[in-house]
Amino acid sequence: MKKELIFMGPPASGKGTQTKKLAAETGLVHVDTGSLLREAMAQGTEAGKIAKDYVERGALVPVEVVAQIIKDRLKQDDVQKGFILDGFPRSIEQAEMLDDMLKEIDDGKEVQTKVIYFEIPIENLMERIIYRRSCPKCGAIYNLKTMPIKQEGICDACGSELVQRKDDTEEIAKKRFDTYFEQTAPLIDFYNNRGLLVRLDATGSIDEIYNKLKEVIK
Ligand SMILES: [Zn+2]
Repeated sequence: MKKELIFMGPPASGKGTQTKKLAAETGLVHVDTGSLLREAMAQGTEAGKIAKDYVERGALVPVEVVAQIIKDRLKQDDVQKGFILDGFPRSIEQAEMLDDMLKEIDDGKEVQTKVIYFEIPIENLMERIIYRRSCPKCGAIYNLKTMPIKQEGICDACGSELVQRKDDTEEIAKKRFDTYFEQTAPLIDFYNNRGLLVRLDATGSIDEIYNKLKEVIK
């Protein structure tokens, strides 16, 4: 049966890491809205050209154009076994658009759809963010609280000085989370009412979360 997974979760919920792992193990295609948009623009597909026009003017790409780019991708052969959709939908309007496109693409097919919500207390998210440090040279990412490093402020891998991203402060992180929860709360209700929502406890280690994830998508 075709598996259609929609992943939702706040920034730093670990959604990205889990998506990569699951896609690699199951062969489900990771459909990541941000990368798709960049690819479509680079390849110059019809929708990609329209998107590029907006981006070059510094404007927001209209949701209809984003939806068309996602639809083009979901129609391709390699996605017919299933996919993990990430970064879309972000509103009820978008969820309804997705519904319509999937009805068209899946016409008559047997499909299992699940919306996985990575649930994690905001305190844990704040910790992941404000203790995060990264290496400007090799890209390694550390967490001062959960991943002890050998020498304070220095990258274990390459010896460079670690930095904190400008937007990884408590205040900015809090704003990011508030916006996220405000935007997605209605969407969570929407999928819950349809019986599609699965709440995944996203606290714990990467492997623990992954095992729970595999349980719920069985
Ligand atoms: Zn480094």
